Amino acid sequence: MTRMRQSQLFTKTRKEAPSDEVAKNAQLLIRAGFVHKEMAGVYDLLPLGLRTFEKVVSVIREEMNKIGGVEMHLSALQDPAVWQKTDRWSDEKVDSWFKTSLKNGGELGLGFTHEEPLTNLMREQISSYKDLPTYPYQFQTKFRNEARAKSGLMRTREFVMKDLYSFSKNSTEHMAFYEKAAEAYKKIFERVGLGDKTYMTFASGGSFSKYSHEFQTECEAGEDVIYIDDASKQAINKEVYDDAEVYKTTGINKATLREAKAIEVGNIFTLSTRFSEALGLKYKNQEGTEVPVFMGSYGIGPARLMATVAELLSDAKGLVWPKTIAPFAVHLVELSAGNEDVKKEADEVYAQLTAAGVEVLFDDRDARAGEKFADSDLIGIPLRVVVSQKTIASGAFECVERATGHTTHKTLSELITDLSHV
Ligand code: ATP
Ligand code: MG
Repeated sequence: MTRMRQSQLFTKTRKEAPSDEVAKNAQLLIRAGFVHKEMAGVYDLLPLGLRTFEKVVSVIREEMNKIGGVEMHLSALQDPAVWQKTDRWSDEKVDSWFKTSLKNGGELGLGFTHEEPLTNLMREQISSYKDLPTYPYQFQTKFRNEARAKSGLMRTREFVMKDLYSFSKNSTEHMAFYEKAAEAYKKIFERVGLGDKTYMTFASGGSFSKYSHEFQTECEAGEDVIYIDDASKQAINKEVYDDAEVYKTTGINKATLREAKAIEVGNIFTLSTRFSEALGLKYKNQEGTEVPVFMGSYGIGPARLMATVAELLSDAKGLVWPKTIAPFAVHLVELSAGNEDVKKEADEVYAQLTAAGVEVLFDDRDARAGEKFADSDLIGIPLRVVVSQKTIASGAFECVERATGHTTHKTLSELITDLSHV
């Protein structure tokens, strides 16, 4: 569906966000009617929010497919037995588990990540070097019993993650893909409008390897502290900042670094054989010897990405979406004040724009101009096109860019030509 009449959109904009909502991203997304807050750390996606979310997902999917990703979907419910094999079932080892129980006894987990079940599943698929490398991925709901849930949609207890896992023959093959994945990540963050503020960042490898890489977007609302090297566009997470090894490995200079707060929008991990050994995922190499598969994992949270854009690319009037992830390309605003000619003209513009494949939200509501403009600014669609008695008289429609406020006057055919080139 590429178009929508606002009179049929059930969501209302709000002047105030709920008083318990402290994060700017959630305040704006709630006020503009993109999301609804169920409870702390849990949000629903409303129609406009879903459209932007799906666009973020599409950008990620395209870039994952380009590097050989193959999409799938695993279950949220988890069998403890698989997690016991890697020693990640106990609450002492993993503090973010949500666990539940079966009516007839026995526990189940709600997946907070998917290394274990996927590694286990791949034992049925991988047996020879001919089966490698392979790169399955999914957009799937994770559950995490996060202690802090104060950052709005940036840290939620239920969220969709794009998680890709690489299965390679050895570390050389793995590193070649790891670098490709890093490039794909850069493209994703550029495409959603965060490229100039996002840094590939050295971070702790956790229990898997010495280091991992995070993609950190500089933002005051971020929970992480990073040290940025502007010259190379790289950064170091504070958690590994004191480790002299990092400097040797990255070649980043100590002297020019600047400290900044940042949001982790994605990360890439070398897992090595941590999971394949524990779960028995092996393959026969060309010499006929059985060896463990070499793995990596690559995560992005599309809603955290959407929230980061809301946090950074907004102004006093509301959200400001980049064209790539805006819920619609055009906000068509009819100011008829009951005038039938204006209504007819606006209907015609709506029909022609959508026929040309332009995604339009049509404000056909019976409301005052001030209210329509305030809502339009709050929702943040890149281009507002106004149809009024004045624009009909002049033969051109007023077109206002949301990001800059830049105003031009265009005929319908000029508008269609412009927009079909986007
Ligand atoms: P963080 O350090 O912020 O807690 P993480 O290191 O646990 O995140 P991963 O488990 O690797 O992150 O998750 C991969 C991606 O999923 C993150 O880079 C982020 O974009 C997203 N993500 C992680 N946790 C959340 C959450 N609680 N809410 C929304 N998105 C999340
Ligand atoms: Mg992290």
